[in-house]
Amino acid sequence: MKEVLYFLDCYLREFKATVEKVTDDKYVVLDRTAFYPESGGQPNDTGKLVREEDGAEFEVVYVGKFNGDISHEIVPTGEKVASSLKAGDRVKGIIDWDRRYRHMRMHTATHVMANVIEREAGAQITGNQLGLDQSRVDFSLETFDRDKFAEYEKIANKVIAENHPVNLYLVSRKEAEEKLSRLTTLAKGFSEDISEVRLVEIEGITIEACGGTHLKNTGEIKGLKIEKLQNKGKSNRRMYFTLLD
Ligand SMILES: [Zn+2]
Repeated sequence: MKEVLYFLDCYLREFKATVEKVTDDKYVVLDRTAFYPESGGQPNDTGKLVREEDGAEFEVVYVGKFNGDISHEIVPTGEKVASSLKAGDRVKGIIDWDRRYRHMRMHTATHVMANVIEREAGAQITGNQLGLDQSRVDFSLETFDRDKFAEYEKIANKVIAENHPVNLYLVSRKEAEEKLSRLTTLAKGFSEDISEVRLVEIEGITIEACGGTHLKNTGEIKGLKIEKLQNKGKSNRRMYFTLLD
């Protein structure tokens, strides 16, 4: 695995690659990929791989990250599949765009929402889980004033409507630490083995280290709605939100 294509271009829906390794006839590692592996609370992409030589199609049903490699779990589809993929095969990868784009909207919305409750309420984000229909943000907050969340929702929607550009950078660990120390961030310490860091900047709002898939502009989120607030004991809180279309 040499190239993670979604690091700098989250809008890439199709790409060409070479198979590097296949395990058990169904776990495929490519030399480059635009498929997002399940991680950081964001579900994996799905889609298909088409072998250039004979047009054989393989559905990508799961993508995960194992030992630093992004692995695509495939299932042969259609009649053209005479043999499974093998190392050296040239393939075209096609991402299920509706699913991915929905996750990009949810993911970017999570950045906006998290930033608002950090800034306005002084909350600390402790986790998140994205879904196609609704997403969840977990945070730590001593005094939980539910009435204030209608106001936070309004502020988040204002940020969305202001059409802030979202920029992606791939920088050295050193550069990242310098950049992040000057600005607000959610970033936790980077583990020692990481040499390059992907930074995500919502212009004028936040810059963070994040490996997920993002929109180019907050306007593409369209809007969000807080659906549910839960008290999870002590200072642990949970919020569910949906997207407006
Ligand atoms: Zn992100």
